[in-house]
Amino acid sequence: MDCVFCKIINGEIPSNIIYEDQKVIAFKDQNPQAPIHFLVIPKKHIESNDKLEDSDKELIGHIFTVIRDLAREFGISEDGYRIVNNTGEDGGQSVAHMHFHVLGKRSMQWPPG
Ligand code: AMP
Ligand code: ZN
Repeated sequence: MDCVFCKIINGEIPSNIIYEDQKVIAFKDQNPQAPIHFLVIPKKHIESNDKLEDSDKELIGHIFTVIRDLAREFGISEDGYRIVNNTGEDGGQSVAHMHFHVLGKRSMQWPPG
């Protein structure tokens, strides 16, 4: 499959992996938008939030507990951080493999651009 994130999961292209288990992988974003910026993705190729299946509920819950733990490990849990999922064209999604951005170590703005 011609999916850049599946290639990262399969080790076909290099990445800076910070966490991996049976269901998810996390790696540094190649174009960081904050001093801390990593992505947490399911190993299962789910195109976007719109393609989630009911049976993926546990997987998504797992991703959020992984984010909780990585945020503590990277020292952003106390000051806070932002979790972002972009879905589809209007959402600004550029890679069609569902992913959660985790950004920290700077104050975020609202509303987003
Ligand atoms: P989105 O615009 O929400 O789809 O986010 C895609 C993100 O993936 C962007 O922040 C990119 O910088 C990041 N990205 C794309 N390719 C890679 C890669 N090979 N390694 C690390 N991050 C990547
Ligand atoms: Zn994929």
